[in-house]
Amino acid sequence: MNTAHFTFSEFVAGFWRLDSWDMTPVQRLNLIEQYLDLGVTTMDHADIYGQYQCETLFGEALALNPAIRQKMQLVSKCGIKPAFDCRPERYVNHYDTSKAHILASVDNSLKQLKTDYLDLLLIHRPDPLMDADEVAEAFNELKQAGKVLHFGVSNFTNAQFSLLASRVDAPLVTNQVEISPLVMNSLHDGTLDLCQQQRIRPMAWSCLGGGSLFGRTDPQATRLLQTLAVIADEVGALDISQVIYAWVRMLPSKPVPIIGSGNIDRINSAIASERITLDKQQWFSIWQASTGHSVP
Ligand code: NAP
Repeated sequence: MNTAHFTFSEFVAGFWRLDSWDMTPVQRLNLIEQYLDLGVTTMDHADIYGQYQCETLFGEALALNPAIRQKMQLVSKCGIKPAFDCRPERYVNHYDTSKAHILASVDNSLKQLKTDYLDLLLIHRPDPLMDADEVAEAFNELKQAGKVLHFGVSNFTNAQFSLLASRVDAPLVTNQVEISPLVMNSLHDGTLDLCQQQRIRPMAWSCLGGGSLFGRTDPQATRLLQTLAVIADEVGALDISQVIYAWVRMLPSKPVPIIGSGNIDRINSAIASERITLDKQQWFSIWQASTGHSVP
């Protein structure tokens, strides 16, 4: 589907955890190629992932077969500056959406990813000190230089989205937000309604709660695990993750789930969830299991 002239694959490959997968460059390349073979062409990064290491690890793999660059859309983010013990000038976690930082961060991402353009750049988190005109200037310069083709945001409220959208020349093509049966804020605070109104697809992060759902024993997780298992049986899903992806994808703003696993069996299962459909009562049973009460 084409949204504001940016086309996402139906699932996105997330590389936040790439540094913890302990893969050789060839294994990383194999993983990327398997994703491409499975039709997952959108690759999600951020400058800071893995303490700035994940883009480097990805770029190292890409350099082994540069021809595949043109088959994928590379997404990266900027705007967060974590504090680091080894960098005393960074003594507190903070945001920086200045033009200078955005330009420098993109140059660094291009260098690490071993590419000369990003398909999509997102402002990672809303910054109370964000000057929307300055961000617009940075976006224009990056677009004119051919370094970034499209722009969007992540974790923005509707007011923050509208502010930035009012100042930038190109339409914002996504808001990347957390969506899962554990975290449903965006379903009820207007975030997904704005995406639907604008006909842009949200990107959904941590659909499986970052994996936490599987090990939790608190009442919410217990209710969810039981309900998801019953529905998995009803719809013939391979596992409860497939039910969760189907639940996220049923939202009318058509969120694009970002897969966070480094395990090829789980990746295959996530993508195969495309064939799973839920009916409305199954969808609301999961909503009810999450909240602990029925809809009014
Ligand atoms: P997720 O899919 O919710 O969580 C992935 C984690 O769950 C992996 O560690 C995976 O381990 C584990 N997992 C999956 N199935 C499991 C199972 N059956 N049992 C136990 N563990 C299981 O996604 P995420 O990694 O949190 O986020 C996905 C992507 O979203 C990230 O890579 C990043 O690109 C993006 N993101 C964006 C933001 C933002 O602020 N914009 C924030 C967070 C993430 P295995 O690898 O062993 O399968």
